[in-house]
Formats: sequence, structure tokens, C-alpha cells
Amino acid sequence: MAEITPEQLQTWLNHSRKYAAAGEVASYIPELRHAPRDALGITLIGCDGRSITAGDCSVPFTLQSISKVFTLLLALIDNGEAAVFAKVGMEPSGDDYNSMLKLELVEPGIPFNPLINAGAITITSLIHGPSPAEKTKRIMQFFQEIAGNAPLRINEAVYHSEAETAHRNRSLAYFLKDNAVLGDDIDVEDVLETYFNQCAIEVHCSTLARMALVLANNGVDPHNGRTLIPRRYVQIAKTFMVTCGMYNASGQFAIRAGIAAKSGVSGGILALVPQRWGIGVIGPSLDRKGNSIAGIHLLETMSAALDWSLF
Ligand code: GLN
Repeated sequence: MAEITPEQLQTWLNHSRKYAAAGEVASYIPELRHAPRDALGITLIGCDGRSITAGDCSVPFTLQSISKVFTLLLALIDNGEAAVFAKVGMEPSGDDYNSMLKLELVEPGIPFNPLINAGAITITSLIHGPSPAEKTKRIMQFFQEIAGNAPLRINEAVYHSEAETAHRNRSLAYFLKDNAVLGDDIDVEDVLETYFNQCAIEVHCSTLARMALVLANNGVDPHNGRTLIPRRYVQIAKTFMVTCGMYNASGQFAIRAGIAAKSGVSGGILALVPQRWGIGVIGPSLDRKGNSIAGIHLLETMSAALDWSLF
């Protein structure tokens, strides 16, 4: 395993931080405007238990789209592969994460994959539970377990801010209802309530690193040997992370960094190096596609230096 010294990590981070100036903090969810634009932090946790951090790792942020990887895993556990892929596809869309273009253009009108908003909302509709509150509770418990039992909370201000302004997600969800992707038994507002809650779960870089570590270790918590997610489902999630995890910049990130990763509009990125590292990054300044500019730069720099690419 290539050694990473704290000094080296700090040098890479300092170099990447200046790229934050090129982007903007997400503002379409008004509460996210308060995020510190120039912040950049990274935590790596190794399968051997080693933890190494640099930068602004005490900055809390919400999972946003990063949650989609883990609700996909819970939906697979709840329903199995066949039922999940009857409702969502397996292909990159090539469009923005909140696009509805292909839902109308391409038959049979199911979302292209589980990591775009239409796909993630559909996946959330498949989570078992009698009410949005119960579903949210199950999601929190599942995420918490993968995070090494770190207590998680929902950032209520971010939740309400998104719930009150999510006209586009609402229209996507009603479109899915009209296409019968969300079936007769599904209440659109209930699904959205659960979806906004999963997006508003608050974390730190260390939480992401710990969650990524379980994926890096094929679903087994390396710290206690417990299998938390079936290996097959982790394989599915990691494949989506490589092909769709950075939205419609996933191809470029696969070429430049070559590791499985998932970003969120809060500026978080969860990434992993198989059998080696779980990684959490925060850098709220985003590029036009909604990815952390400095965060991507840092991961690309480290991947090149440490030969992380899968390819
Ligand atoms: N909650 C956000 C939304 O649905 C998540 C999007 C993202 O992180 N790309 O718009």
C-alpha cells in the first residue's frame, strides 16, 4: 500500500484549494448558500484502520445525491435485483442530474439509472415501510450502520428548504407517476418527503470515508468483520458510481481519476480505492455540472500520484 503522509496530503490539499475560486456554492436549495465556498477537507480511512485527514474536515454538510448510492443498496436488499431494474435502467443518461428529457423521449419512460434524480426518487419509492417517517427511520438506521454506528441527524433547515422549493423534483416525480413508474399505491408527496429527508442527512468527511470503506471492502465492515451489504449489491452500486456517480462528468472523472465516486450538490464526494481506502471529501464550490471543483482536482491529483485508477 503506497504510504500517504499527513504532510503530503496537506500539500496536495493546499494546491487544490485554489480551484475552489472557479466555482459557486449550490443555491437552488436556498439553505445550501451558507456553505463555506473555499472550504476543502479530506478524510481517508484504511481497511487497516488507519485514518488520515487534511483541511476543513469539521465542516458539516448534507449527503444530497451521495445518499442515492445507499438507498439503492437498501432498495436492492428490500426488493431484489429484478424488481429494482424493472423500474430503473442501468445506463448513463448523458444529461443533467435533474433532467426530464429522456423520460419522455425514450421508451419505456423509466429513468436511465438510479443516480439521476428521477431514478433516485423511483428507488426511494421502493424502500419498505408503512409511512415516510418509518422509511426515513429505516434509511437512517441502514446508513448509520454502514457509517460505523456514527449517530446521524437530519439537517431540518436543509430539508425544509428543499421541500419548499423542489419544483423540478416535484414535476419529475409527477411525471413518473403519470408514466406508472410510481405505481397506483404510491403517493408522490410521501416519496418526495422521504427523498428530501435522505438528501438532508448531515455528515462530515469522516462519515463519508467510513461509509465508503464498507464499499471498498465489498460490503464487509473491516473493523468488525460483519457483512452489512451483500457483495453482489455492492458490485452494482460501485459500477453505477463509476459510470454515473459524477453526473454527466463521469466519463471524464473515470479517465482522470479512475475510481468509484459519488458527488452531491453540497460539495461532498464519497470515493473509494478497493481493499484500501474509504474517502470523504468536502468542497462546496461547484462546477457547472454540480461537482466540487477543488474536490475533483484533489482526487484526480491523488489518483495520478498513487496509481489508484482501476483501469
Ligand atoms: N437534493 C438534491 C436534488 O434533488 C440532490 C441533487 C444532487 O446532489 N445532485 O436536487
